[in-house]
Amino acid sequence: MPTMDRFNAILNGKRDAVLADIRRLQNEEKSLSRDVGLREVMDTKDISFRDSVAVIRNAGLRREAEELEDIRAALARIENGSYGICIVCDEVIPEARLEAWPTAKRCRPCQEKREAEKAGRH
Ligand SMILES: [Zn+2]
Repeated sequence: MPTMDRFNAILNGKRDAVLADIRRLQNEEKSLSRDVGLREVMDTKDISFRDSVAVIRNAGLRREAEELEDIRAALARIENGSYGICIVCDEVIPEARLEAWPTAKRCRPCQEKREAEKAGRH
């Protein structure tokens, strides 16, 4: 199906971009640790700044890893023919929604319901 080919290409492109991001973040992490290793004396302000940077970077990596997982799951759904079908109600997800959000696994009403439930728990 031509549509699946197109989403396959979109998702592969996204995956490559996320992988490049992860590699970049990991390289920055490495050069950061090297930096810290070279300096024997650091004042407290410096350390806390570096710690904060590391924490932010790790949060970034976690987000990228989650996105990568979503992309992998979407590509697997293309493989097994369930891509574009809501995992909750089995309705077809409109193509416009998939274009805006290629890793969507729920239709809009099901997604909104889920988000309302999540918000209600907090
Ligand atoms: Zn649904």
